[in-house]
Amino acid sequence: MIVGMRTGTTPEEIDGVVQRAKSLGLSVQLNLGTDKTVVAILGSNTGQLPTEFFAVLPGVESVTRIMKPYKLASREFKEEDSLVSINGIEIGGKRIVVMAGPCAVESEGQLIEAGRAVKEFGASILRGGAFKPRTSPFSFHGMEKAGLELLARAKKQFGIPVITEVVDPHDVSLVSKYTDILQIGSRNMQNFALLTAIGKSKRPVVLKRGFSCTITEWLTAADYLLAGGNNQVILCERGIRTFEDSIRFSLDISSIPVIKRFSHLPIIVDPSHAAGHYSLVPAIAKAAVAAGADGLLVEVHPNPKEALVDGLQSLTPSDFARLMEELRSIAKSVGRYI
Ligand code: PEP
Ligand code: MN
Repeated sequence: MIVGMRTGTTPEEIDGVVQRAKSLGLSVQLNLGTDKTVVAILGSNTGQLPTEFFAVLPGVESVTRIMKPYKLASREFKEEDSLVSINGIEIGGKRIVVMAGPCAVESEGQLIEAGRAVKEFGASILRGGAFKPRTSPFSFHGMEKAGLELLARAKKQFGIPVITEVVDPHDVSLVSKYTDILQIGSRNMQNFALLTAIGKSKRPVVLKRGFSCTITEWLTAADYLLAGGNNQVILCERGIRTFEDSIRFSLDISSIPVIKRFSHLPIIVDPSHAAGHYSLVPAIAKAAVAAGADGLLVEVHPNPKEALVDGLQSLTPSDFARLMEELRSIAKSVGRYI
């Protein structure tokens, strides 16, 4: 249930709504907008609650039920776009933020070379996996803590924030110590223990779409993060499983305008895991920017032929440089910049 307060409402009136919710055993989240304050009333039985319980309180302008399963990620709760700021880099504004780097951190030399190239060609955030969730138990699972240490070194050397995946709720504080953005992988979108831990951590987080999940399920997973008090949430479309098998996953380009319509959260796109092949990455990346994505997450490897993971879909530094050039004019044509 969403309680909209009148313009110019007082803290006492807001507190009156909060106290009424608490007396009913419900929890609340506040959106103290610049213009209007909105109070989300949350609990499993709000559907049965008469709206009058809140409508009668002083300062209340409207009470509406959100019929969708997600609440805090919805535009009903927060009308204006959310911005996530990472060391001064804003995601969700006019600038298209490009995060790029190797699928996995493999060695100091590899990460430093990748970091240097992506920074030179205009990426503002370096990616690299230290904990890799792999389909097979026999595949390379990442350098773990040693990989985190290399990411921290690259961050210092190049002065850019780093993003890396966390797969285990127990590793959230360790990963947070070394990096700037936590990534929740597609396979973990509905790992509720992980979502809860990252919600509590309040660290900037990229929530990838589960490749067999609907947009509603994705936004409901985002609610776990927001409910924990973490409002630095960025969504990432990375392709879904369809009947089409000529590409690794089908990038759901329409998820970008759909998310923009129903949610206030920023959305970026990972063209690499959808494409599965380097030759398909640029077209998908450009389409994403044209469709309104707030950023990209792209795999770039200094020597894709030698990559331990996802070499086939990784761009070389020179492919990446070309893509960045092409993206600049697409961004401009939709009123954005890189
Ligand atoms: C990744 O970004 O390295 C990754 C494993 O992606 P996804 O979770 O989307 O498969
Ligand atoms: Mn990968």
